[in-house]
Amino acid sequence: MAKCSYCGSTILFGGKKDEGLTFCNDKCLGKGVVVRLAQQLSEEEVRQEVMTVYRGKCAKCDGYGPIDVHVSHRVWSALFMTSWSSRPQVVCASCGTKGKVNDALFCLVLGWWGIPWGLIMTPIQIGRNIVGLFKTPAPSGPSEALTSVVRATMAAACLAEEEAKSQPGLHLQVPGR
Ligand SMILES: [Zn+2]
Ligand SMILES: [Zn+2]
Repeated sequence: MAKCSYCGSTILFGGKKDEGLTFCNDKCLGKGVVVRLAQQLSEEEVRQEVMTVYRGKCAKCDGYGPIDVHVSHRVWSALFMTSWSSRPQVVCASCGTKGKVNDALFCLVLGWWGIPWGLIMTPIQIGRNIVGLFKTPAPSGPSEALTSVVRATMAAACLAEEEAKSQPGLHLQVPGR
């Protein structure tokens, strides 16, 4: 199955294609520039940053790592409309587990109430959360998903820097100058 070039989540239905890259939705498609820039970053730089994040502290609970990408899945329905999404978070294992349990409960309560997608997507999203609970990232090292998220974050930072440089007026607003 295809994976989103930006967030790495598996694409179940549809997906958006753009110059050889595939994205899960318009939001990720909008990050295409970042993904292309990310492919040009040096392997060594990315690897170092990945290890820093992996061995660092959890952004959510301030607890110790290993930190990795934990994806939880949601669905909610209101009669004839159903909305589902996958939410990747860079957190510690226990925050990851909490996220998946919370989202499974969220689906269980709010997922069913739409025809026909609520009835179809609710068991799928709950199943993905349960599978995710048992498929925790390998303890031996950072996952591929973490590498791609870190790479994208670094590229986004580069891009912001480039934009700031191309607009000299912005520098005047930096305090202390
Ligand atoms: Zn995506
Ligand atoms: Zn945590």
